[in-house]
Amino acid sequence: MTTESHETNNLFQMAQNQFNTAADFLGLDQGLRKVLSSCKRELTVNFPVLMDDGTIDVFTGYRFQHNVARGPAKGGIRYHPEVNPDELRALAMWMTWKCATVDIPYGGAKGGVMVDPKKLSKHELENLTRRYATEIALMIGPDTDIPAPDVNTDAQTMAWIMDTYSMHKGYTVTAVVTGKPINIGGAEGRNEATARGCQYVIREACREKGMSLDGAKVVVQGFGNAGSIVARLLAEDGAIIVAVSDSTGGIYNPKGLDVRKVVAFKQEHSTVVGYPNAEQLTNHEILELECDILVPAAFENQLNEENAGKVKTKIVAEAANGPTNLAADQIFQDNGIFVLPDILANAGGVTVSYFEWVQDLQSFFWNEAETNKRLHQIMVKAFAQVYKISQERKIDMRSAAYILAVGRVAEAALTRGIYP
Ligand code: GLU
Repeated sequence: MTTESHETNNLFQMAQNQFNTAADFLGLDQGLRKVLSSCKRELTVNFPVLMDDGTIDVFTGYRFQHNVARGPAKGGIRYHPEVNPDELRALAMWMTWKCATVDIPYGGAKGGVMVDPKKLSKHELENLTRRYATEIALMIGPDTDIPAPDVNTDAQTMAWIMDTYSMHKGYTVTAVVTGKPINIGGAEGRNEATARGCQYVIREACREKGMSLDGAKVVVQGFGNAGSIVARLLAEDGAIIVAVSDSTGGIYNPKGLDVRKVVAFKQEHSTVVGYPNAEQLTNHEILELECDILVPAAFENQLNEENAGKVKTKIVAEAANGPTNLAADQIFQDNGIFVLPDILANAGGVTVSYFEWVQDLQSFFWNEAETNKRLHQIMVKAFAQVYKISQERKIDMRSAAYILAVGRVAEAALTRGIYP
């Protein structure tokens, strides 16, 4: 299995199991469990796109909202041939818990189109994005549901969605999406935010564990927006990045890779494979290398019953959503590996999305230093709250984060009551 064909079997079941563990701890009643374990709204769209050769193709897309008890739905849009409803249900639910973990006023959503964007021209991709945006326009909006980039989508994708939505409205609505280019209402620091948030909680974890980041050996799986920037930021903290990978393979140098040079190499060759002065490994082999910090920053289900027992690290920091399955989670607990769960470790992205949305609504913009300062405050506070629960209850960080997050969402749902 490669990261290209990511396993998504039972992902929603996995999300529900994680939720049920927290619901048991919190003693939630059956009714509330039913409410919180399903998605509130699920929209499927099949839509035509005019291709460059004059033919018409039909694509399937989705936008799912899990819960909006604490505010408008929030979450990314991914383009991938294997996007499917159960994967999106899990990802939407994880967004609800993620926003609650860092205490920002959003619910959770996720969307996607079944497509391999690498096979489309830029013009076809724009057509597809604009038509998909039109199809989901009945759900999205600055007060209802705010998309953002995710796997294989970026600031340009968000610009097309913002423009399409605004054309239909007849006026510019910057706050309908986040992760936009800076010149049209994007936030300084949003591009680095997922990685920066991850760096901040890794620093906290190292402090609690009495480890130094300076000289720590780090392995990063995935070299996209999250992975490549986490690698750079941790290297700036003195860590030695011994291995990185992308969907085509991995590279390893026990003395450390020069991340800036790897980024430049990837820009030129569209892959990290072939980078000089490094051993070539698969993107699964790198997960089993001896290191201090392992950062899965690619897809779901990369750490599972087959490889978790062979993982030789002290900290796993989940920059990706759902990289560790339930069996692997148990193995990590048994082996004393400290896991920074996705709903905490990668929450920096949606946190700065929140800052972007606030700035768009106020038409008043901050500089990057202000953004990073506020991001730091939120991540450090969330880490401390989750860590405290894990210490008090003698449980792992994921269960602790779920108790915090599910508790907050359940409380909001109970305070609001059931309508009518
Ligand atoms: N796609 C990112 C995530 O999974 C960001 C979502 C957002 O900013 O709304 O957290």
